[in-house]
Amino acid sequence: MSKQSSTGFGPVGDAPSPHGSRIAIVVGDVRPGAVHPFRRRRIAAVTAVVAVLAAGALAAGAVSGRGPALEPSAHAVPTSSPTSASSSSRSPSGTPAPTPTLPTFPSASPNAASPNPARPAPSGSPDPTAAPSFDRSAHSIDDPNSLWVVVDKTRPLHPADYAPTDLVDVPVPHVWAPKLRREASDAVVALFGAFTAETGLQLQSQSSYRSYSTQVDVYNQDVASNGQAVADTSTARPGTSEHQTGLTIDISALPGICSLEACFGDTPHGTWLAGNAWRFGFLLRYPADKVPVTGYGYEPWHFRYIGVELATEMHDRGVTTLEELFGLPAAPGYN
Ligand SMILES: [Zn+2]
Repeated sequence: MSKQSSTGFGPVGDAPSPHGSRIAIVVGDVRPGAVHPFRRRRIAAVTAVVAVLAAGALAAGAVSGRGPALEPSAHAVPTSSPTSASSSSRSPSGTPAPTPTLPTFPSASPNAASPNPARPAPSGSPDPTAAPSFDRSAHSIDDPNSLWVVVDKTRPLHPADYAPTDLVDVPVPHVWAPKLRREASDAVVALFGAFTAETGLQLQSQSSYRSYSTQVDVYNQDVASNGQAVADTSTARPGTSEHQTGLTIDISALPGICSLEACFGDTPHGTWLAGNAWRFGFLLRYPADKVPVTGYGYEPWHFRYIGVELATEMHDRGVTTLEELFGLPAAPGYN
């Protein structure tokens, strides 16, 4: 059994990556039943990962006077017991789905997009020379209640013990009973429904909202048992987990395949999610090639709800992190 299983919070699953260089940072998502045979290997890998993060951050010109300290995962442990994955597999078809909208922020130049420049524009149509620009300031990236809030190792939630006021039970199959903010919940239902309709396969929620108090308890227990250095490699510091926003879900296959492991990205489930989640307002928050920016290893299961408008903009522009979209500093480690 893992050390965490004796804490009363259930097992804290490290998710050792099959990719050696990511072992130390692909950690912390809840993985019921997982054990910790990888602790020593992970510690050994810390040095390598720190080097990778440092090199990446330096290359990005993002490090100025602060080290890319290897820090905890954004993930914590739910306190509830796992329930049957099929216990709440209510049909998602009853909930209105967010309409998978067509891109509304064309990136092609007006000239290139016009097959016949000489033709006068129809009356009332948008002026093709006035390319719509996305308003990045339309919503706050600091307010924890904003769908655009950016949370990373340098941007903790304010207040640190923020809790959403509109959490609802998410009516989808699950490992741990899921709660999310209402809009995100509706989007998850639509996403899961579309996935099943288009592939004939099924998804389930691995974990979703986690409270600040849960994070405090788990983090303190980990520090008491293993020391802060080790704890910081496996448990998020309270107030810095994106899961605390109520807008984030870890998704796995049903039945499980590579749950909370990098190989999930190669499953039909993972590949579909990577290509289609944006249609429903979700962002694959920790891409494989953005570790120096996000501070987290590749997590093909971790999706953050940001709304269809922003998700579409990012998809169309090929921007894959919130830090880059909003022009924020890279966040390889805590300040
Ligand atoms: Zn996650």
